[in-house]
Amino acid sequence: MADYSAGLDRTVLDSYMDLPSDGRVQCMYIWIDGSGENVRCKTKTCAKVPERPEDLPIWNYDGSSTAQSEGSNSDMYIVPRALFKDPFRRGDNKLVMCEVLKYDKRPAETNYRYSCNKVMEKAKASVPWFGIEQEYTLLAQDGHPFGWPKLGFPGPQGPYYCGVGANKVFGRAIVEAHYKACLYAGVEIAGTNAEVMPAQWEFQVGPCEGIKMGDHLWIARFILHRVCEDFGVVCSLDPKPMEGDWNGAGAHCNYSTKEMREPEGIVPIQKAIELLAKHHDEHIRAYDPKDGSDNARRLTGRHETSSIHDFSSGVANRGCSIRIPRQVGEERMGYLEDRRPSSNCDPYRVTEAIVRSTVLDDWESTF
Ligand code: ADP
Ligand code: MN
Ligand code: MN
Ligand code: MN
Repeated sequence: MADYSAGLDRTVLDSYMDLPSDGRVQCMYIWIDGSGENVRCKTKTCAKVPERPEDLPIWNYDGSSTAQSEGSNSDMYIVPRALFKDPFRRGDNKLVMCEVLKYDKRPAETNYRYSCNKVMEKAKASVPWFGIEQEYTLLAQDGHPFGWPKLGFPGPQGPYYCGVGANKVFGRAIVEAHYKACLYAGVEIAGTNAEVMPAQWEFQVGPCEGIKMGDHLWIARFILHRVCEDFGVVCSLDPKPMEGDWNGAGAHCNYSTKEMREPEGIVPIQKAIELLAKHHDEHIRAYDPKDGSDNARRLTGRHETSSIHDFSSGVANRGCSIRIPRQVGEERMGYLEDRRPSSNCDPYRVTEAIVRSTVLDDWESTF
């Protein structure tokens, strides 16, 4: 009998969950709030099972309660953009990734999907693929890392990365539940591993083409927060949850275009790295929700990071901004890894920046 949120009994809930619902479905609309980091959700009953996002109505919510508008003009629109199966309610029920528009139907300040989609449309011929490694930290409800001693610290980093054993990893049940829930939902989850700091974990999503990267990663994050809620544990995407000799959390973005994946793709990979070097400052601004200041705590040049002030690249070097994986160096084709994005980055913003620099070479156009 697990502790449901606020200590309610999960087994009682389960006696209601398989009641028939007369052909109607529950669609949970999910959107990004004014923080640019947190998601919100609410549910709508729909008479028919939606096949495509366009089958669902545009809805609204109170933006004055999500740091997105004034109380006197508070309605924001949520527009369905991607559908997933709902691993919590199951059946024909859906999770719906939405984008947020203001009262005048222009994108909200933290709606980076809108321009990302325009950029991906322009770059379609290059067939951009992304794979993001989402690192995160589990916290107990007192804000202390999950499983850490209440007083003092666990032993120094070393045994925890990809570890096994009750003294090496904390919270595996959450990781396993999240992985299954993502597979069920239809998220392109690629794998998981325990990270360098105890109670820190990673999952990877991808490869995904274009706008799909952001849609899938945001839903995977929603599922993670929701699974953690069931376990009474908190998931933090803070890029440096513990000061001192503890690794931070990133969201490495692996990236390739069609020509990079073909023989001698190393040549366009090197060319892309030159273009990324030219726009380092724009990328740093796009790689966390506080335009670089969150990431400044993480990108110190220590703990497997590069300095936020310098651009660097190298084969198999985890102290660089951009790493070319060893196998890619050997096969002379494949992809590159941008190690700079913060764990709390917006993947729409990250993927847009990469395509603007490397495919369009255009930081001027606004949409
Ligand atoms: P690391 O060695 O940095 O820990 P991971 O195995 O965690 O790497 O993640 C690598 C990610 O790269 C995978 O999630 C995968 O989706 C992605 N990936 C693999 N091939 C490509 C490609 N050609 N283009 C873009 N992403 C790719
Ligand atoms: Mn990884
Ligand atoms: Mn990692
Ligand atoms: Mn990586």
